Amino acid sequence: MVFAKLPILSPLPLPEATVEVDRAARKGWVLYQVRPGDTLAGIAARFGVDPRHIQWSSGLKDDRLQVGQELRIPLVAAEEREPRVPPGVEVYRVRPGDTLASLAQRYGLSPLDLVSANPSLESLDRLVAGSVIYIPKGAKGLLVSLPEGETLVDLAGRFGLSPVAVARANGIQDPTELRPGDLVLLPGIRARTTYQRLLAKQEEERQARLEAERRRQEEERRLAEERRRQEALRQARLRQAQAPKPQVRRVSYQEGGLRWPLSGFRITTYFGQRGAFQRFHTGIDLAAPYGTPIAAAKSGQVEVAGWSALGYGFHVILDHGGGVETLYAHLSRIAVRPGEWVEAGQVIGYVGSTGWSTGPHLHFEVRVGGVPQNPLAYLP
Ligand SMILES: [Zn+2]
Repeated sequence: MVFAKLPILSPLPLPEATVEVDRAARKGWVLYQVRPGDTLAGIAARFGVDPRHIQWSSGLKDDRLQVGQELRIPLVAAEEREPRVPPGVEVYRVRPGDTLASLAQRYGLSPLDLVSANPSLESLDRLVAGSVIYIPKGAKGLLVSLPEGETLVDLAGRFGLSPVAVARANGIQDPTELRPGDLVLLPGIRARTTYQRLLAKQEEERQARLEAERRRQEEERRLAEERRRQEALRQARLRQAQAPKPQVRRVSYQEGGLRWPLSGFRITTYFGQRGAFQRFHTGIDLAAPYGTPIAAAKSGQVEVAGWSALGYGFHVILDHGGGVETLYAHLSRIAVRPGEWVEAGQVIGYVGSTGWSTGPHLHFEVRVGGVPQNPLAYLP
């Protein structure tokens, strides 16, 4: 997880903690003596009032000030006051699960009506629980707050409406009772552009969600594919380790059948399997106790009886004629000599672990035309 580095906040300039009031005037007013560097806007901002109100109450012709001059500052504008909401507009607190569409449906409004009454909405989908949505129950129109320094007449003019019509729609007798921040319904004006923008944004977000979902599914597919691949690999390794008996093509005894060279044994490695010393096992390994007698698998002539530099250790090769040979390896002792004729079942040596071997066993090979064959195909 990555943690975003938080920006270090620089200390905000402290507001002037105290406002020196030279001497009290009438209730609701302060008298202020202009000091060097003062501006009307600065003083107005400091007292939280409209500069024009200071201008009017102090009888100023313009905003030029003289040091030492006395200003009458009306404090009425500074008092905290809830913004006025026009009659017929309900203030609705968003509950979890509310959407603009569900609210529009509940109040029998079009989404455009709702957006027009809430032109500062940021999204059609995400309504913040606890936030305020204005529901126009009477006249529909654009609901805006009266900007600082603007009157209802200015506002109406800006939208090409008659001030009288606007005042009537807002239940106002005296336009001067409105304060900056108060909500004004501009009848018949629709926040089409805002709505279009929000619709476009909604579509954009929908596309983004679809794209994210598509990517997620793709990633899931990729992971599933990877898991399948790993599982197949694991199964393959397992099969290899378990060494299932390879398919054996049976050759009838008449075709050159052999007899088992040992009477008691356990097959530890099959033909073709990866062996301890070979990539491809050219015979079968028959585990048996050290010194177990080894019988000739078929009658024939001893072709080799001796030591092998190729890892067979002490070994015997019998030639059975017709290009068929058998090989017996890792013997502890050899009981025949090269050139000697042996009958099937005759002892030719004893089990050992000479050459490349990890324990007493007989490595038994069948070769036809010099090529190792699967001995099981020739054995009963
Ligand atoms: Zn072997």
